[in-house]
Amino acid sequence: MADPRGFLKTGREVAERRPVEERIQDWHEVYPGSAGRALLPIITEQAGRCMDCGIPFCHQGCPLGNIIPEWNDLVWRDDWEGAIERLHATNNFPEFTGRLCPAPCETACVLGINQDPVTIKNVEVTIIDKAWDSGLVRPQPPEWLSGRTVAVVGSGPAGLAAAQQLTRAGHTVAVYERADKIGGLLRYGIPEFKMEKQHLDKRLEQMRREGTVFRAGVQVGEDQLTGEKLRERYDAVVLAIGATAARDLPAPGRELGGIHQAMEFLPQANRVALGQEVEGQITATGKNVVIIGGGDTGADCLGTSTRQGAASITQLEIMAEPPEVRPANQPWPTYPMVFRVSSAHEEAAEADLGSRVYGVSTKEFLGDEDGNVRALRLVDVRFENGTFAEVEGSEREIPAELVLFAMGFTGPERAGLVEQLGVDLDERGNVARDASYRSSVDGVFVAGDAGRGQSLIVWAIAEGRAAAAAVDRFLTGSTTLPAPILPTERPLVV
Ligand SMILES: Cc1cc2nc3c(=O)[nH]c(=O)nc-3n(C[C@H](O)[C@H](O)[C@H](O)COP(=O)(O)OP(=O)(O)OC[C@H]3O[C@@H](n4cnc5c(N)ncnc54)[C@H](O)[C@@H]3O)c2cc1C
Ligand code: SF4
Repeated sequence: MADPRGFLKTGREVAERRPVEERIQDWHEVYPGSAGRALLPIITEQAGRCMDCGIPFCHQGCPLGNIIPEWNDLVWRDDWEGAIERLHATNNFPEFTGRLCPAPCETACVLGINQDPVTIKNVEVTIIDKAWDSGLVRPQPPEWLSGRTVAVVGSGPAGLAAAQQLTRAGHTVAVYERADKIGGLLRYGIPEFKMEKQHLDKRLEQMRREGTVFRAGVQVGEDQLTGEKLRERYDAVVLAIGATAARDLPAPGRELGGIHQAMEFLPQANRVALGQEVEGQITATGKNVVIIGGGDTGADCLGTSTRQGAASITQLEIMAEPPEVRPANQPWPTYPMVFRVSSAHEEAAEADLGSRVYGVSTKEFLGDEDGNVRALRLVDVRFENGTFAEVEGSEREIPAELVLFAMGFTGPERAGLVEQLGVDLDERGNVARDASYRSSVDGVFVAGDAGRGQSLIVWAIAEGRAAAAAVDRFLTGSTTLPAPILPTERPLVV
């Protein structure tokens, strides 16, 4: 156990973000220096709050099964080498989760029953940032090669986790990515202010040194590399192509200029933030921006629009405003739907730029004489008897010269590779797989959003690790690769 009296004498404390007026002028992470370094002065005492419970519910809350009390104890004892070794035992990329995970472990922390939970995610990011700074993260190339080959299609967190595990197991692994750079949504979806790309690049360099081969700029499923060729060339294939088919809103006026999917807007902004040139960039500068959808993607559009100098930003959500505290029907240790304030919401509020409007639906997009959007016609809605009912007399217009859809994704793209491979889809349109991550086609496995549907980075890493263990067993008849317990066996999913 860390500090036996820690939770009695120390309250929960998190690192201070940079002042809003400073951080909205740049694209750097919202914490000074880096999240881990900002936390160093307080983290030992925070880790000491861990009670090392007999049944650590945080393990259950974390999709990776991170062994949280052990690394809390090691941090409290100043054993940073031991801490990173325990953390890496279950998580290939704690620098991603330590910055981006919504931390379902914390809502499952036993301390959270009647106190503020341990700052688990902050301890995690501090361990990994300190490990990088101290040279404790080294390549782990395999000692021998199996002579078996694996193609991983898609380079998001699921593909990268699968590739790192399989490379370390001695297989020859190539990761294919259609974008010009490796990383999936970590590269061009998630903005710099949430996670700077230097963290991704450092990890990719480690993977290259271990022997993983990266092939960016290759759309698998096109002439250069069809699904058939892929299967001929490799002993196994891992489909980690994400859930990139975006949900649309086919309301009247949808065809007007100035209405875009978030994933048209965010990748361009990310490229520009990284110093690349983008011709005809979609920008929020000087515009009234309306973001439809209230999740992570919507918050990223919000933070990006703030930094681009929008005139106003309104975020619309069809669901009612969630409560501030856990509702009775979502008790500890589940992950509750409560009102959350991200760094982007904090910025928009402080800069007096934005508002969140709940319980509304868009009836129509209204255009100007040039065919561009100028306003939205909204109506209040209430969820009744399984459907959204309009509130009479609540129709109104709000100005908008830029509309961004952040309403989620409907699954992987079906045309091209998925059709060529002939893999079955499930009832939700995702690639169907069994409990061993095998698709309906022999030798083709599935990990991450492509099989699970739109989800989280922590789940993508967990599935990439589990799929890697299944592929290793398929190729060699057995495996020693560690894998999280399969999602179907876990009771506390989010
Ligand atoms: C804007 C945004 C913000 C998010 N923020 C968070 C967050 O803060 N925290 C969190 O936990 N989750 C967040 N998520 C969700 C998270 O990013 C995803 O759940 C996660 O990235 C899924 O990982 P993946 O590896 O399955 O797929 P992806 O990261 O989507 O990667 C799939 C890759 O496959 C490539 N690909 C597809 N087809 C082919 C092909 N035929 N040939 C070659 N390459 C192909 C795609 O180009 C893509 O790069 C966010 C999602 C979005 C859209
Ligand atoms: S990966 Fe997420 S759920 Fe797991 S310990 Fe880290 S913050 Fe918690």
